Amino acid sequence: MKNIAIIGAGMTGLSLAYNLQGNNISIFDKSWRPGGRVSTRKHGDLLFDHGAHYLSVNHNVNQLKQVLIKINITKVIEINFLTNFKEKKSIKKKIIISKNGMNLIPNTIHQSLNVNSYFNSKIIKIIKNKNNLFNLYTENDEYKNFDLILICIPYLQAKELSSNFINVSDNHEPIYEPIYTVMLSYENSNNIEIDGGLNLDKNVAFYMKQNFKFPELKNENWVVNMSSEYTEKNLNINNYDLEKYAQSIFEKSFKIKQSPTFIKTHRWLYAQTKTSYNHLSKKNWISSKDNKVFLTGDWVLGKSLSDAWNAGLKLSHYLKILDI
Ligand SMILES: Cc1cc2nc3c(=O)[nH]c(=O)nc-3n(C[C@H](O)[C@H](O)[C@H](O)COP(=O)(O)OP(=O)(O)OC[C@H]3O[C@@H](n4cnc5c(N)ncnc54)[C@H](O)[C@@H]3O)c2cc1C
Repeated sequence: MKNIAIIGAGMTGLSLAYNLQGNNISIFDKSWRPGGRVSTRKHGDLLFDHGAHYLSVNHNVNQLKQVLIKINITKVIEINFLTNFKEKKSIKKKIIISKNGMNLIPNTIHQSLNVNSYFNSKIIKIIKNKNNLFNLYTENDEYKNFDLILICIPYLQAKELSSNFINVSDNHEPIYEPIYTVMLSYENSNNIEIDGGLNLDKNVAFYMKQNFKFPELKNENWVVNMSSEYTEKNLNINNYDLEKYAQSIFEKSFKIKQSPTFIKTHRWLYAQTKTSYNHLSKKNWISSKDNKVFLTGDWVLGKSLSDAWNAGLKLSHYLKILDI
């Protein structure tokens, strides 16, 4: 049994923890909860999935699908989805969602695991000790004697944290896109027949109603994602201007007459992978020469939570072959 430290309790880190059960696993996350970009935001009675919205039924997620069936917290639903707002092309889209907010998925997977968990624990330094094992440091604490370090955080941060052990090639740097998310809540129904869609406007790439996700919601809630091109061009915009702009596009498109009772922005700087590491290098993880420190994440394979899960799964297979 090895002492394994997993840094990052998003879907990649959870996949590794799930697939390496039987070892002594410690999982660290700088946040207070597992899930990373799979995030359900609660403001009073209002609820929003403001990170990942759903799992596509067509994604290549065989193992994750089995895990979700086992823990029984998801459902397949059919929604009215407009692929192109201007052309009003509505389709029936089948998606997989959690029965009560997307964050229930990582939360339940995490609860099912027998791991030592350290939340509110941002790892800022890794050193090799005199026993050739690894110590991890947060601002206030030290965690000692790990055989293996698996870093499952966005690429640039992973590269910096592992720089004492890994020299990554600049030719293979994956590219992330940022996304601003705006959450909107209306007291009364706007009688909008569709549940979500793409390209509401050249600057709004995605929008989704939240009520079919949270049946107890009294208000009508929406999440609007600005396009990554818009986000990149407007990194310095203040929240007030951004919210007013997103609101005006949304309300004009759907001819909404009432004002929202709640509006809030979240800025995802590393939202989704534009060019994956695998696409550039044909490799499925990055490792130190001695195969003791590994970097992985959704950025290795693609832009979805199934890519994150599969990135963890692939690395776990390799570690089993290495007989860690
Ligand atoms: C707005 C938005 C919408 C999306 N929509 C969808 C969708 O509908 N469907 C879909 O499949 N995918 C979607 N995605 C993508 C999906 O959320 C991600 O691909 C996936 O969740 C990434 O998982 P991960 O574990 O690789 O990374 P993350 O979820 O980013 O996890 C990394 C974790 O590491 C932690 N961390 C970082 N640094 C440190 C440190 N130094 N020490 C300790 N912990 C640290 C973070 O707190 C985080 O919990 C969306 C993403 C965004 C942002």
